[in-house]
Amino acid sequence: MTKETLPPGTTSGTPQVLLAHHLKQLKLPTVLREYDKVARECARDGVDHPRYLLRLVELELIDRERRTVERRIRAARFPAVKSFDTFDFTAIPSLNKMLVLELARCGYILRRENIIALGNSGTGKTHVALALGLAACQKGFSVAFTTAASLVSQLLEARDEKRLLRLQRELQAVKLLIVDELGYVPLSPTGAELLFEVFSQRYERGSTIVTSNLPFEDWTSVLGSERLTGALLDRLTHHVSILAMNGDSYRLRQSAGRRRATAAAEQNQATADGVDPDTGEITA
Ligand code: ADP
Ligand code: MG
Repeated sequence: MTKETLPPGTTSGTPQVLLAHHLKQLKLPTVLREYDKVARECARDGVDHPRYLLRLVELELIDRERRTVERRIRAARFPAVKSFDTFDFTAIPSLNKMLVLELARCGYILRRENIIALGNSGTGKTHVALALGLAACQKGFSVAFTTAASLVSQLLEARDEKRLLRLQRELQAVKLLIVDELGYVPLSPTGAELLFEVFSQRYERGSTIVTSNLPFEDWTSVLGSERLTGALLDRLTHHVSILAMNGDSYRLRQSAGRRRATAAAEQNQATADGVDPDTGEITA
């Protein structure tokens, strides 16, 4: 065949080379990688052409979904990837496990509702926020993770560089915005205003998760003004699930557990050596 008689968009060459080229252009990398292997399996098993094609297309779809989820997770900028598989609900009895597992199904994102996790340090607030963020990525929602301090400094920087509007639009567009650690750093009046604007612009448009070590009555100490705090809480808590996460610090408990284990091991060793572990007297 000469080049002129080929249908538009095709070029001459061996079929494998052309196929590789076209599949790349069509963005079907899994079909390209698998078509030969699957063809041999189908020939061996006597599978017909439509089923061969179906297998290939299904492989591409599965891979594409996996790639999309991975891209969403990277775009979310999680400081670590954590899930509920590694979360021990018995360590934090104040937390309503049923509510959290229901939230992990992401219905609240479709309803544009918010979540606020409140509790002292080390009780798993960030872990839960990360796990909810991961669940949202897996369910197909765009997610952005940030801390309150980092968000405010990004907003201030964007304002100074005259690109505040663009950043605000980006923050508004994401389906789930996670703002971790509101409360550790007091905000400047401008910083507090800009943070308020983010929550205000997302109100009933998208979901926001906020974690804080401070009860609501102390939020004024971070945001500066009582009027602003009232207006912010008004928007944030209109449609909200509150996660009460007060309890022992998981971090401290883990290290206390390690200390106890070490002490017990030393005691066992002393007893084995014939020494009373409390008095130090020789017992053997
Ligand atoms: P917070 O944000 O409330 O200060 P983190 O979520 O950062 O607490 O928790 C501190 C550390 O302890 C993290 O490594 C977290 O994964 C772990 N952790 C906290 N609570 C639990 C829990 N209930 N089960 C498993 N790991 C936990
Ligand atoms: Mg935290």
